Amino acid sequence: MRMRYGTTYALADFCDRLVPKSGEIDRELLKETFDGLRRLAQVQSGNPWMTLHATTSAGVWINYRGFPYCLINPAKSFLRIGAAYKHADAAHKLKVFIEAELHQDSVEEIEGDDLQQWRIHPAALSKFWTFFEKLECPSPSELETMAGRHPRFFSSEDRVTALEEFEKAGRFCPGVGGKTLRHKLEPGEPIEFDHIIPHSRGGASTYWNLSILCAACNRLKAATAA
Ligand SMILES: [Zn+2]
Repeated sequence: MRMRYGTTYALADFCDRLVPKSGEIDRELLKETFDGLRRLAQVQSGNPWMTLHATTSAGVWINYRGFPYCLINPAKSFLRIGAAYKHADAAHKLKVFIEAELHQDSVEEIEGDDLQQWRIHPAALSKFWTFFEKLECPSPSELETMAGRHPRFFSSEDRVTALEEFEKAGRFCPGVGGKTLRHKLEPGEPIEFDHIIPHSRGGASTYWNLSILCAACNRLKAATAA
């Protein structure tokens, strides 16, 4: 996983939860969790629609196509997995997968306020990560364009950096010039990575041409440009 200053602390907190101050370290949980983070980092670098983001509350968010898909929080002997209710479609897909593919002895469903949650025990983790490895990716021709001289997608490093700065600044959408003002976003509100100069007009997919907008403003911007 790519790390910057803020992320380093967040990940240290994440690891701290896996290694309890007293009592036995659950070696299987440790191994399966780190193996999972490695696999997710691989998905992130190969699938421009997925971005990992370590939070200050010792969790790791998996963002997919610009919205928060799933939150991973470590506990002593399991990982707590949360799917945002707000994104009912994503939460439903995760639920179907967990119920159909994971051994039910290793999974407990728990009620949450904002998130649908599960406790996933180490024995089921290896299979659990495959859910993210199978998430839809851009088509081969789109990925080819990405590898070319004028890629359409932002790199995982640029997405992670922009997302961290966005979180640190307090989650503000800059708005669309002349249409909407800068506004603060609710946690879990969908965001999108936007080309400041549109890709169709030659705008590069680099950090310097990247802004994070809320999904509504991004649609408005696209409609205005059309
Ligand atoms: Zn907005």
